[in-house]
Amino acid sequence: MENQRFDIVIVGAGVIGHSIAFRLLRTEPGLKVAVVGDPVNSLMASRAAAGMLAPFCECDQADQFFDFCRASLEKYPSFIQELQKVSEVKVPLSMAGSIMPYKAVEDQWDNRLAFFKDQDIPHEVWTADAVKSRLPYLAEDCGPVLWVEEGQINNRRLHDALTAASKNLGAELIEGNVSGFMHDDTRIECAVTDVGDIESERFVLASGSWSQQLASVLGVSLPMKPIKGQMCRLRVEDNKLPYTVHGFLTYIAPWREGSGFVIGSTMEDDGFNPVVDEQVIRTLINEAAEILPCLKNADLIESWSGMRPAAEDQMPIMGKSARYANLFYSTGHFRNGILQTPNQADYMADSILGNLKDTIQEFSPIRYGL
Ligand SMILES: Cc1cc2nc3c(=O)[nH]c(=O)nc-3n(C[C@H](O)[C@H](O)[C@H](O)COP(=O)(O)OP(=O)(O)OC[C@H]3O[C@@H](n4cnc5c(N)ncnc54)[C@H](O)[C@@H]3O)c2cc1C
Repeated sequence: MENQRFDIVIVGAGVIGHSIAFRLLRTEPGLKVAVVGDPVNSLMASRAAAGMLAPFCECDQADQFFDFCRASLEKYPSFIQELQKVSEVKVPLSMAGSIMPYKAVEDQWDNRLAFFKDQDIPHEVWTADAVKSRLPYLAEDCGPVLWVEEGQINNRRLHDALTAASKNLGAELIEGNVSGFMHDDTRIECAVTDVGDIESERFVLASGSWSQQLASVLGVSLPMKPIKGQMCRLRVEDNKLPYTVHGFLTYIAPWREGSGFVIGSTMEDDGFNPVVDEQVIRTLINEAAEILPCLKNADLIESWSGMRPAAEDQMPIMGKSARYANLFYSTGHFRNGILQTPNQADYMADSILGNLKDTIQEFSPIRYGL
């Protein structure tokens, strides 16, 4: 690798790292930006996710996190339009909404309904009779259905598009592994990698579940761990269901355009163990088939596992380091990093370029002394 000095080096080549590069270069086209990471890391969350854009099904209180996720959902259609133009990669995005069949949520039904009403979230209740004619492929005993206006995206295509976009905008994509940093007490000088040292004015740590190890080589303790999810994808025709199905234990996410349906997922506190258990996958399919029976005998296209980056308080860690003057973090996006991508990219670009007006204290690295 040619020895060169960058304005900003981003460590991490998932949706978070690339979306920051994309927004930085759209804001200041002359910046010298590098994204460092292993582009085919088989456990990276960005390619393992289901792509649900679901602040309303995922959150149950109106806090800063909810507001941030809701704003990100609102940004999605224009973000994808801009991204497709720059990347020339088509990214299937649906805003058809999510459904929660009564059978899948049972005792949470009243809570959900109350929350949606309280927060003015666009939603509808479809009676059991209406469901039978509107969603003929759903199991007959699903009961009424709660529909809510949110989104769904093919996250692998999103990742492809972000990678292409940051490259098209002039970012240097460095396929390498950062093993350490050269630094003094207050500044980082360069990232040490297997393809050479990379010098930069500013650094961004956006390395998902692996952020904790990188923070530790910087002498700070980042309380974070990977939460493994096992998933699979089944061959099902698009017309079987236009909505994402949310149960609390199982979800069904249509990827559309002939890509089948993704069924998820487990939440396992099991370190970086990547093993996919056939029996676990079968159980996921059986549970999902109780809602959408055609899944029971559908062909299995693939199964996989991925690592969700979870901070101790399960909030994202975003913004300027308390310890190093030229370090920024964007990690810990846990279960909703795909959803957070557009708003996170804006927040981080503003933070890095010194344009951020309102710091969100709940997300700040300062809370962990990072
Ligand atoms: C099973 C599963 C289902 C999910 N479903 C959804 C969903 O439906 N909706 C949603 O919004 N979110 C979902 N998520 C969460 C979402 O995928 C993550 O929050 C998001 O992808 C995190 O992105 P990231 O870029 O921070 O991390 P990753 O995608 O994990 O990327 C980390 C990057 O850092 C690089 N890296 C790590 N260490 C180093 C190093 N030392 N040197 C160089 N590079 C390094 C890796 O190679 C990789 O490129 C899901 C996650 C999983 C696992």
